[in-house]
Amino acid sequence: MVETIKDVEGLDIELEENILRKNQEIAEENRRILDENGILCIDFMGSVGAGKTSVINCLIGALKKKYRIGVVGGDLTTKIDAEILASHGVPVVQINTGRECHLDANLVSRALMRFNLNDIDLLFIENVGNVICPAEFPLGAHRRVAVVSVIESPYLIVKHPLTFASVDVVVLNKVDLAEVVGANLKGFENEILKINPSASVVKMSAKTGNGVKELIDALGI
Ligand code: MG
Ligand code: ZN
Repeated sequence: MVETIKDVEGLDIELEENILRKNQEIAEENRRILDENGILCIDFMGSVGAGKTSVINCLIGALKKKYRIGVVGGDLTTKIDAEILASHGVPVVQINTGRECHLDANLVSRALMRFNLNDIDLLFIENVGNVICPAEFPLGAHRRVAVVSVIESPYLIVKHPLTFASVDVVVLNKVDLAEVVGANLKGFENEILKINPSASVVKMSAKTGNGVKELIDALGI
């Protein structure tokens, strides 16, 4: 009985390693295609409601005259976010993942085929709203960003160390509401830097546009 359980567990781990290895290979291929076409790609992760779409929306508004922008939007079932971003007149490829709670490199590879890559300088990827598994699936992006709303608890960071360890930039969004909800911004920042001392932490309000310049600097774009 016990032996059977051990066998099953061993098989699961092996399967998962294969999936992650295959994902890594496709991510490297995506990176090669992006580099060949001179495209800088940024992957945004964060919970539903953290403000990923609003942050990307702000960046498009600030950068659309400087760069030719494209967007890949990952969502379980809806097109709402993709339509908001497409209203800027930039090409958006929507991926409805159905039950999958993250984008993977293969889905992004298929999305890349839908763009005219010669016409894009900067590609934003909005990952599926979830702070758990997207971190485990690199997509080939040059930068990874986590968006956290200060309305959430700093425990969100402590409980998802893998996500915050895997990013270059953390956006603390909705700082316009920090005072109202009594958010401890320093507390958020400390938790982030404990997990990832080299992360840039940007305080932002995607609603007012405050902090977008700092985010652009942190992204080096
Ligand atoms: Mg969104
Ligand atoms: Zn997932």
